[in-house]
Amino acid sequence: MSEPSASSLLIENARIVDGLGNEPFDGSVLIDDGRIRSVIRPGDDNPTPAAGRRIDAAGMTLMPGLIDSHCHISFDEPNSNDELFFHRREGLAAIIAARNAQRLLRAGVTGFLDADSLYEIGVDLRDAIEAGIIYGPRMSTGGNALLTSVGGTAGRLLPDEGRRGYGQIVKTRDEIISEVRRQVKIGVDWIKVHVTGMAPRQKCEGELQVWSYEELKLVTDTAHEIGTPVVGHCRGASSIRDAARAGFDMILHATYMDDEALEAVVEANVPLVPTFTFQANLADYGHRIGASPYLMKVFRREIEDSAVMLKRAIAAGVPMLCGTESGFSLTPYGDWHYRELEVFVKELDMTPIEAIKAATSANAVALRMDGDTGAIEDGRLADVIIVDGDPSKDVTVLGDKARIKHVFIGGEAMPLDPILPERRDPSGWRVSDYGDQILDYDVAMSSNESLD
Ligand SMILES: [Zn+2]
Repeated sequence: MSEPSASSLLIENARIVDGLGNEPFDGSVLIDDGRIRSVIRPGDDNPTPAAGRRIDAAGMTLMPGLIDSHCHISFDEPNSNDELFFHRREGLAAIIAARNAQRLLRAGVTGFLDADSLYEIGVDLRDAIEAGIIYGPRMSTGGNALLTSVGGTAGRLLPDEGRRGYGQIVKTRDEIISEVRRQVKIGVDWIKVHVTGMAPRQKCEGELQVWSYEELKLVTDTAHEIGTPVVGHCRGASSIRDAARAGFDMILHATYMDDEALEAVVEANVPLVPTFTFQANLADYGHRIGASPYLMKVFRREIEDSAVMLKRAIAAGVPMLCGTESGFSLTPYGDWHYRELEVFVKELDMTPIEAIKAATSANAVALRMDGDTGAIEDGRLADVIIVDGDPSKDVTVLGDKARIKHVFIGGEAMPLDPILPERRDPSGWRVSDYGDQILDYDVAMSSNESLD
C-alpha cells in the first residue's frame, strides 16, 4: 500500500457497523482521497495518516450515512395538497429546498432520492450540491411525476393537461414518449410514474390503477432505451403487478399486494420502498397534532395489513429499502429519516443490522451508486457517520441528532452547526385558515365550557 496523502483521516477505536448486514466489530478506518482506503480490524497495524489527522471514536459507532430513497426535498412540509399545488413559487421553493437539504445532513443522511419535485428544481439542487455551491447529501432526482389526468393523490386539483406542482399530465402515447425524453434531456436520474391515484367513486382498496400495462411498458421501454430507470408510486395490487411486469426499477409503497402481485415482484426482483413513516407518524403521534382517532386507526391497520405480504417478499429475497416520504408536515426534514428503520424492525421483523442495511448499502441503488457508497468497505466512497450510541442494538438512537457527531461525504466533514438565521414562512406560503370549524350560530353562542 502506498503512503496515505496529507488529506487522509484515520477514525480509530470505533465500533463498526458496515451496512452490509455483517456483525459489528471494533476497528479503525482510513479515509483517503474521498474513499475508504482500508478497514482495519483488531490485530492489524494502524497506518498513520501523513498529516496525522485522527478522530478517536472510542465508545461510538462508525457506519455508512443514511440513504433515504423517498424524500420530497422541494415540498417544504405542506399540510395539504392545496398548499403544495397552489402556495409554492418556483424561485422560493428552490432556495428553501437548499436550506432543507442541510437539515438532512444534520440527521446523518448522506444521500437521498427525490423522485419528483416542484418545477423540477431537483435537477438544479442536485447540480448545486455536486458543484459545491451548497452543502447537501448526495442526491438523485426525477423531474415531474408522469400522471394521467386521473392520476395522483390530488384529485381535481390536477389539471386535465399540462403541468402543475410536481406533476406532468401525459394524455397520449406520443406525449408519454416525448415527456420521458425531455426529462432525460434536462438531466433526471429517474423517471417517476404515479401508477395509481385517487378517484371519488373508486371501488378498489387503496388507489385506482390509472395506467394500462401497455402504457407502463411504453414508459420503461422509452426510458431504458436511453439509460434511465423508472420508479412507480403503486398502492393497489394490480398496479404493483403491472409495474413489476413492465420492468419498473423500483416500486414505492406496494401497499396492497395480492399473490399475483407478489409473484410478479419476486420474479422481477424489483426493490420495494414501503414508506411506512408517513402512516406510522400519524398512527403513533397523530393525537399530538389533533388528528382524528379514526384516521390514526386506518393508518395503523394499513401498516399491519401491508406488512404481511411485504414479509413474504423479504423471505423471497426481494430488496426492501428505507424511504420516509420526508417533506410533508407529518414528516419534516431532518427529524424522521431514522423512523423507517424503526418500523422495519417492529413491523417487518428485521434485526437492527438488517434495517441499517436497508437504509445504507441496499439503498445505494436509489442513488444509482450501487456498490459505490453505503458501506464501510475498502474502496467505497467515504460517506460515513459517527454516532454516539449503538444503532446495531437500537436503531432509534439515530433519531437523536445530538448523537450524530460527525458526517462525512466523500471524506469531507459536513457542517453540523445550526442553520442561521431562524426561519419564518414567506407571505402566502401556507394555507391560512380563519379557524378550524364553521362559525354557525350555535357554535358562536355556546359557552366556552361546552366547547371543551
Ligand atoms: Zn412520495
